[in-house]
Amino acid sequence: MRNNLKFTFTILLVLLLTGCSGKKEKEKSGKLKAISSITIINDIVKNIGGDKVEAISICGVGIDPHTYKPKPGDPRLVSESDIVFINGFALEHWIEEMVHNAGGNKKVAAVTDGLTPMTDEKGYGDPDPHAWFDVKNVKTYSQNIAKALIEIDKTNEAYYTQNLNNYLVKLDSLDKWIKSEVQNIPVEKRVIITSHDAFRYFGRAYGLEVKGLQGISTEAKVQTEDVKKTIDLIKERKLTSVFIETSVNPKLLEEISKETGATVGGTLYSDSVGDEGTFEGTYIGAVTHNVNTIVKALK
Ligand SMILES: [Zn+2]
Repeated sequence: MRNNLKFTFTILLVLLLTGCSGKKEKEKSGKLKAISSITIINDIVKNIGGDKVEAISICGVGIDPHTYKPKPGDPRLVSESDIVFINGFALEHWIEEMVHNAGGNKKVAAVTDGLTPMTDEKGYGDPDPHAWFDVKNVKTYSQNIAKALIEIDKTNEAYYTQNLNNYLVKLDSLDKWIKSEVQNIPVEKRVIITSHDAFRYFGRAYGLEVKGLQGISTEAKVQTEDVKKTIDLIKERKLTSVFIETSVNPKLLEEISKETGATVGGTLYSDSVGDEGTFEGTYIGAVTHNVNTIVKALK
């Protein structure tokens, strides 16, 4: 009888203890859920948030964010998240309704906060969203992401700050590396011709001329005039390469390539990083790939 009681007590104690520790573990593993509009921002969130954050991108790999049509599950992702990171500069019109429907008090952080946009050359004054191709701007993206995470998760402030500092060091060395790589291209060959104008910040920061067939958004229709100007530019400057993009249909650029004899110098990541789990699946990897591709084709 006494043994039986002791046995029952032990069982109860074990149940109580495992019950407790089980709950604690769940609380401990409870990560913040951060939604990003595009894979580029999502990768930066992963770098800063580390294992405290579950980072999910609404636009997947290779998806064009300018013309994105939300999937049925997207509003739920937004409503169940702790924070939503957007680029801003008018890139994500489609996310506003989802945020609105999620109750209106969802925390939304624009990672371009504090930056001044370049504007559309064609005179409409639209902000150019592709600020991420100037690595210095991504330092601001990273700082904004860290600041927003700390605001909702003060407990892990030191962790996010450490991750931010580590990442900023990597960005600085990427920025330096790009500047020195571009020196390998003869000055008159420093021209990037692509499907849409995603590389103006890149061009401004690293000293290359850029010409996109479609302007700063893939929503714009390509004008015959633009095609003609591009062909003239290629002939006039004796350019030997044009570049296609992973998130944009390459058809027109391939035709220009045929017409002018300029070869397709490779595929660039513009509005999305590469496949998950690869080096190109990170912001730093995608930019490194772009620079290697551009330098190899133009030098
Ligand atoms: Zn774009």
